[in-house]
Amino acid sequence: MAVLVRTILKDKKIDGVATIRPGDALRVAAETLSQRGIGALVVSEAGTDVLGILSERDIVRVLARRGPACLDEPVRASMTPNPVTCTPEERSDAVLARMSAGRFRHLPVVEAGQMIGLISIGDVVQAQIVKLAMEKDALETMVKGGY
Ligand code: AMP
Repeated sequence: MAVLVRTILKDKKIDGVATIRPGDALRVAAETLSQRGIGALVVSEAGTDVLGILSERDIVRVLARRGPACLDEPVRASMTPNPVTCTPEERSDAVLARMSAGRFRHLPVVEAGQMIGLISIGDVVQAQIVKLAMEKDALETMVKGGY
């Protein structure tokens, strides 16, 4: 039982990926995460290139180590550069395994060198639950129908 990343992207309520430029202040990243109620931003110059990823965990870590002065520093100082990505044709079980092995919860989706989306571990788990429920219903119908 698996779902394609392309299907997960199609079913996401929010279109587009929240990005931030590497030279923007960390304060702006924190404000954006808070306003949009999300956990990570892709660091990108033009919106489709993937230079890095910045999650709420990165901000917490740098705040704890260096104090609030870090909020005026550029995002590039705290981001994870060259993040792991996936393609739209990959299966949900493969991307879940990659997130689990790398201990991160976000994966930019890249096709032909361009970022076309971002999936979170929550999106993947939700898609698998929906697929599982549909398969269960179909099986029940078959059994009850006497096939
Ligand atoms: P997250 O679980 O997404 O909040 O991220 C936890 C840590 O992993 C943070 O340091 C992120 O910068 C980093 N991270 C998040 N996503 C990725 C990714 N796709 N590839 C590499 N590192 C990542």
